[in-house]
Amino acid sequence: MNDIIYFDNAATTRVRPEVVNVMSEYFSESYGNPSSIYKIAQENKTAVEKGREQVAKAINAEKNEIYFTAGGSEADNWAIKGIAECYSDKGKHIITLSIEHHAVLHTCQYLESKGFEVTYLPVNEFGLVEIKELKKAIRDDTILISVMFANNEIGSVQPIKEIGSLAREKGIIFHTDAVQAVGHIPIDVKDMNIDLLSMSAHKFYGPKGIGALYIRKGIKIKPLIHGGAQERNRRAGTENVPGIIGMGLALELITSELSEEENRLIYLRDKLIDGILNNIPYSRLNGDRENRLPGNVNISFEFIEGESILLMLDMKGICASSGSACTSGSLDPSHVLLAIGLPHEKAHGSLRLTLGMFNTEDEVDYIIKELPPIISRLRNMSPLYEEVVKNKKC
Ligand SMILES: *Cc1c(COP(=O)(O)O)cnc(C)c1O
Repeated sequence: MNDIIYFDNAATTRVRPEVVNVMSEYFSESYGNPSSIYKIAQENKTAVEKGREQVAKAINAEKNEIYFTAGGSEADNWAIKGIAECYSDKGKHIITLSIEHHAVLHTCQYLESKGFEVTYLPVNEFGLVEIKELKKAIRDDTILISVMFANNEIGSVQPIKEIGSLAREKGIIFHTDAVQAVGHIPIDVKDMNIDLLSMSAHKFYGPKGIGALYIRKGIKIKPLIHGGAQERNRRAGTENVPGIIGMGLALELITSELSEEENRLIYLRDKLIDGILNNIPYSRLNGDRENRLPGNVNISFEFIEGESILLMLDMKGICASSGSACTSGSLDPSHVLLAIGLPHEKAHGSLRLTLGMFNTEDEVDYIIKELPPIISRLRNMSPLYEEVVKNKKC
């Protein structure tokens, strides 16, 4: 087993060795600017177009519908601001979810300060949006629906195809933040009626700082980054050539392994969920059991702080994450856990373990063994727990 056991694949992933390998050539040998005319520049232009082809194929898009960005946050910002600005004559109303990533939520809040109106739809206790709520929220002046494909904290996978057909039927543009979904579950932008889709390479074993926005042919959008004519005049800036090449290969590889890897992760995920829930009292699974990302486990433990679980896991070499206050830098626990109806104290005691292609069954067995004593040690120090146990006795 590795010295470090990495269960935080929703935060970022390790870059696969094949990807590091192909990227390295483009730093020190083929380093030309793709806009130049000599050989090492033109080679790069070809390589960038190959990356675009690989990305397009993975989501069943056309090659010229893919625009590279500096990651998922930029793609989300661009999609939402670019559509809002372009279609504001038609209306100023946007619909999104209360559980979106901050790249979407803070962009929407910014647009509110510029005179747009945003509806933040609630989700049910499993973190899923109800189609009837979405239908009710649609107005004549709604120009954009932005609903994440899968949630980064609790792994809930939204009914994207149904939302896509509803939006298409009503003539409303549909964007999805698919940063957690691309490379993890099958996506077909045509079949799902998706107009814009954000993705990020470092969430599927590619490099950080490179992502893409899929923009369906015929959709108008204002640029976010102004400057040169790169990306067919829509996104200025010299192309991140090594990043694009790494992203293309990473996505091609994981897509070819997808169904097998999905099944493997679902098996590990379910073993981990059951192993924790069956061995630790006062614990509950957050998110939906069925409509769930293959690698996502999110569990709340009553009477303790997620933060202290993370510190104890770190001493065992286990990397994980929580929805508690301190990690997010604010006093409130995760907006996602609050949105599914968890009271503050339960939201504070949450632990997120996200599995990926490098995790093994041995690692899952290891954490199933290590976690229960950690939780009981922390509970034994908790005055809240003592009170509950005492009350039980009398
Ligand atoms: C990671 C993440 C982002 C941000 O992507 P970056 O490439 O890190 O900017 C956006 N949305 C979701 C759902 C994410 O998980």
